[in-house]
Amino acid sequence: MELFVRQSECCGCEACKNICPVNAIQMKNDAKGFAYPEIDEDKCISCGACQRVCPLKGEAQKPSAQKTYAVKHKNSGERKSCSSGGAFIEMARHIIKKGGVVYGAAYGENFQVSHIRAADKAELERLKTSKYLQSRIGDVYSQVKADLNSGLPVLFSGTGCQVQGLRSFLGKDYPQLYCVDIVCHGVPSQKLFDDYIKYLEEKYKSKAVSVNFRGKQVKNVVQDMLVTFENGKSYSCAATFDSYYMFFIKNFSLRESCYECHFSNSERCGDISLADFWKLEKQFPEFQDFKGVSLVITNNDKGEKLFGELKDKYEIIETPKELAFAQHPLRKPFAKPQKSDLFWNTYLTQGYKACVKKYNSFPKLKNFIRKHF
Ligand SMILES: Cc1cc2nc3c(=O)[nH]c(=O)nc-3n(C[C@H](O)[C@H](O)[C@H](O)COP(=O)(O)OP(=O)(O)OC[C@H]3O[C@@H](n4cnc5c(N)ncnc54)[C@H](O)[C@@H]3O)c2cc1C
Repeated sequence: MELFVRQSECCGCEACKNICPVNAIQMKNDAKGFAYPEIDEDKCISCGACQRVCPLKGEAQKPSAQKTYAVKHKNSGERKSCSSGGAFIEMARHIIKKGGVVYGAAYGENFQVSHIRAADKAELERLKTSKYLQSRIGDVYSQVKADLNSGLPVLFSGTGCQVQGLRSFLGKDYPQLYCVDIVCHGVPSQKLFDDYIKYLEEKYKSKAVSVNFRGKQVKNVVQDMLVTFENGKSYSCAATFDSYYMFFIKNFSLRESCYECHFSNSERCGDISLADFWKLEKQFPEFQDFKGVSLVITNNDKGEKLFGELKDKYEIIETPKELAFAQHPLRKPFAKPQKSDLFWNTYLTQGYKACVKKYNSFPKLKNFIRKHF
């Protein structure tokens, strides 16, 4: 049984692991820290389920009717605690209110990111904010199936490959399943992120106690890192000056499959898609306050109906589709930069600090910011 030939043919969604009837598939990390499935040939019964379930091999669910909205949570505190406009959390609370459960990415011990099942409002708080690395699915698809089969409403949120991985695993539609796909730039690995946190801990001589990729501390900056430490100190930095963010934004540190992503386009596989509303100010300067605005795309009647039930929670404007779909990951995946292999080579042979010295520069942009702001 062969699941992929090139690493770019596996997005790490873990659908194959979840569907295996004899538990013959385990996820193993490669040297960079990205998880890939490995088949235990002694257990494998060659049924082929793992090959058939792969979301990169089949057709993804297509939208039937799309509408695009710029969305801000009416409560400014809520908006501050979320990545962009706070659109997701109200959708999640709505499902909990109906007696359902919500799945999404959360930090665990030592900032290990994985998908969890949230069954109450307190647990939902852990799903707030973007964690810019690959979240591990574990056996969550199987849990979703069990919840659906027992009649519970379920909201599943994740990147496009994770949503399509779930759809493919389920193999049929459930009326009470809502899928929210998070528009995705691409994902770095947990290992790289761990080393970044260690690098900061060494610098601040203290253990990190909280991490927020969208600290919203730096004025007029949409993406800024906020890390707090046990000794009371904190690190707050605009994305353009933060090493981990720069490796991510410059596309050095992404998983191989992200450069060939099947889901970075306008054909969204969720019932609803969520993103930051980049460049909104071009046409709606009065709505853009740089405190976070979500782009909500409803992809079908189910998504439009769910969003419609929540409209009193948000400030909303319906926007032209061309504006909404202007950003890169809604058109095509980012190309792999030539320097990416050199970056990983430095990381693997010399460690994170060496990468900071060699690759954490954006000289033209930094000079521009220094001169003009
Ligand atoms: C890896 C990644 C890359 C992204 N790239 C882009 C981009 O290029 N352009 C863009 O416009 N928006 C991107 N986003 C989406 C954006 O950062 C916000 O998540 C989105 O706007 C929703 O914000 P919110 O305020 O509504 O929700 P929030 O309250 O911030 O909710 C966070 C939601 O994101 C999910 N989530 C968080 N981390 C992960 C993860 N690692 N994997 C899967 N799901 C996760 C949670 O389950 C939850 O559903 C990305 C998000 C992630 C996680």
